[in-house]
Amino acid sequence: MISALLPNYARADLAFERGEGAWLWTVDGRRFLDFGSGIATASLGHGHPHLSKAIAEQAAKVMHVSNLYRIPQAEKLAARLVEHTFADSVFFCNSGAEANEGMIKMMRRAMSDAGKPERFRFITFEGAFHGRTLATLAATGNAKYLEGFGPVVEGFDQVPFNNMNAVRNAIGAATCGIIVEPVQGEGGVRPADMQFLRDLRAVCDEYGLILGMDEVQSGMGRTGKLFAHEWAGITPDVMSAAKGIGGGFPLGAVLAKEQFAKALKPGTHGTTFGGNPLACAAGNAVLDVILAPGFLDGVQRKGEKMRAGLEQIARDFPTVFEDVRGLGLLLGLKCAMPQGEVQAACAAQGLMAITAGDNVLRLAPPLVVTESDIEQGLAMLRRAAETCAGKTQAAAQ
Ligand SMILES: *Cc1c(COP(=O)(O)O)cnc(C)c1O
Repeated sequence: MISALLPNYARADLAFERGEGAWLWTVDGRRFLDFGSGIATASLGHGHPHLSKAIAEQAAKVMHVSNLYRIPQAEKLAARLVEHTFADSVFFCNSGAEANEGMIKMMRRAMSDAGKPERFRFITFEGAFHGRTLATLAATGNAKYLEGFGPVVEGFDQVPFNNMNAVRNAIGAATCGIIVEPVQGEGGVRPADMQFLRDLRAVCDEYGLILGMDEVQSGMGRTGKLFAHEWAGITPDVMSAAKGIGGGFPLGAVLAKEQFAKALKPGTHGTTFGGNPLACAAGNAVLDVILAPGFLDGVQRKGEKMRAGLEQIARDFPTVFEDVRGLGLLLGLKCAMPQGEVQAACAAQGLMAITAGDNVLRLAPPLVVTESDIEQGLAMLRRAAETCAGKTQAAAQ
């Protein structure tokens, strides 16, 4: 008989009861170091006092009123995001896929309003992940995820990542824009070449295309900048954010320059829960922490420390790891053996890591991870690598 909770996930047999910083305790009292952050989402870790207080206080006042009314918490959060990014205006929703849907609709509508409704196609990239709704699945273009779900939403042309010739060849009379992750997360923690991002900006300007960035995973401080595209010194036209933006509370956003944002006039788009007082109280509390002086520098410093440690481990265990990739605190180890076995070996040491495409072990600790947590995590990973290397050696004999 099917379980009451729909079994669409392959869940590990662990149930957590509480957490503190980067640490989680199971209901049966075991302790784990969380280097997955609920898939790069619990940006402030677990049980963060400022975030949990903001949520509790707002919940006790008013949680939800609908977008029929003004929402001061949303106005404040939008103004702060505008102040710290390229964007002039922000739309709030509830998830990454929903943010990307909103971004796709905004891009098409802006092109249509500019008198070019025939330009509705998007160039997307191999290895991308944009979500599980029908349009974002089409943008993701992964055959495994699309199978059995009927006709694929029309209008997405996928080309190899980091390949400008392929991008230029794919541009046609029906192209609306380009949608890219500055760091592919699910696809295997693969950063875009900085020059590639700059070239995408240039080709969009050359052809009058709209540049859309999916910063659902790479944004909100994850790479040590508020948004990862800042590393390339360019700005997109529109951008999606989610995951870390609410620190674990469901919240998504579309940020856009005025020229594109204005396409979503009253009646064109909406969502019931989007940007409600509770979600935006969480978003504001997260920003309080991330925008505090020195915080993002700390993320960069911790990312460098962790990367150096990972590189040493990869050198010491070449039968387990092939290379280290990523940016800031979004790091990946390309595995030389099945990633799932390495992940299980980490769990046995008390370290929670997550997997990504391309046989990569993904490490995305909370942004509040401490230097001592990183040292402990690296020690656990080293012990996990020792057991894995022992196995590969035994298999070879
Ligand atoms: C996780 C993710 C999404 C989808 O977000 P959901 O909240 O699961 O809908 C979209 N894009 C990227 C880059 C992601 O990492």
